[in-house]
Amino acid sequence: MARRTARNAPSGPSPFAVEAEALSVKKFADPQRTADGQRRASVAMTKLDTLWLNTGTLCNLACANCYIESSPTNDALIYLSHDHAVRFLDEAEELETREIGFTGGEPFMNPEFPAILSDALERGFEALVLTNAMRPMRRHEPLLLDLHDRFGARLTLRVSLDHHSQAVHEGERGAHSWDPAMDGLRWLSEHGLSVAVAGRLLPDEKESEARTAYGSLFAREGISVDADSPHSLVLFPEMDEEKDIAEITTECWDILGKSPTDLMCANSRMIVHRKGEAGPRVVACTLIPYDKGFDLGDRLLDASGDVALNHPHCARFCVLGGASCSA
Ligand code: SF4
Repeated sequence: MARRTARNAPSGPSPFAVEAEALSVKKFADPQRTADGQRRASVAMTKLDTLWLNTGTLCNLACANCYIESSPTNDALIYLSHDHAVRFLDEAEELETREIGFTGGEPFMNPEFPAILSDALERGFEALVLTNAMRPMRRHEPLLLDLHDRFGARLTLRVSLDHHSQAVHEGERGAHSWDPAMDGLRWLSEHGLSVAVAGRLLPDEKESEARTAYGSLFAREGISVDADSPHSLVLFPEMDEEKDIAEITTECWDILGKSPTDLMCANSRMIVHRKGEAGPRVVACTLIPYDKGFDLGDRLLDASGDVALNHPHCARFCVLGGASCSA
């Protein structure tokens, strides 16, 4: 398929691949009940703290295990326009949302992204931009310096550095992806911008060991990111919607000692513009852009209903993996 034949796609399987049996088709089939008939857990919205704008799936990379299948040719989610973004920023103001998150694809590839980002900051929101810090971002150095001057730490760039070793990072992201990412990280850090890093854990890798290794890398490279802080270095569990995972029932919260309020869908929503659709839509979270069961309509103000945890990502990434995209 086109994504895997992209010029810069990695040649082998993802080093982060999930090892498990294939998922039974009976699981995640009914929003109300699990395969064995128990009541499926759901999450109520507490407040829209973060509104994510998906800027489009086009990316300069084609990572082996990109959950949203971004690539230089995949425009399944088309570029979000500034005109469309304005409507949702208006609604977010009404809902007293704190932060606007930007994810792609690579946000800096969207020609209207600079206008959308500036608009969000000028309205008083905090802004979190997920980027690979490579050439698309570097083309916008003057914009970033200007926004940093005007808005300081209200703008944070979270750079995807999948692993603290070049070999694993490039196994996932493709050859020649390490040096440009490190250059971009150093540039952001040297110019005093607020920077965070997003990485992944290998199947057998302990989080404490990964943090130590990232810390050594940042110290060596002069990058101002605190590897001990879960906000500055976010380490994600892996996702694979085709591999077996337990379903989450209403009993699970007590058994696992977790609260539904900790999940991203309790305090976030994402805007996506799917190719072929008349306008952008609201979805429950950043992880499930295509499944119509998680489509909540075309207005944020109407999108605060409960979300049934009826997707393998709900289980593996959010409840059992404990991750949140805003952490
Ligand atoms: S993937 Fe996570 S954040 Fe998204 S709907 Fe499921 S539980 Fe909520």
